[in-house]
Amino acid sequence: MIDDKNIKNSKLGRCSYCNKVLTFLPHTCQYCGKKFCRKHRLPENHSCEGNPQPPPPPKTS
Ligand SMILES: [Zn+2]
Ligand SMILES: [Zn+2]
Repeated sequence: MIDDKNIKNSKLGRCSYCNKVLTFLPHTCQYCGKKFCRKHRLPENHSCEGNPQPPPPPKTS
């Protein structure tokens, strides 16, 4: 059970995806600017609203 009072007292915020209270330094997405827990910090893990760039192809031509 989540205690709302503790959430309001916390300045660390919550994960924008799962709404979990962040008791550690939140990960800020560089694409959408929102804060996420460790599980959802990757754009692919939080349905990122930003514009994540795909990784460059492993091979060079
Ligand atoms: Zn999360
Ligand atoms: Zn994002």
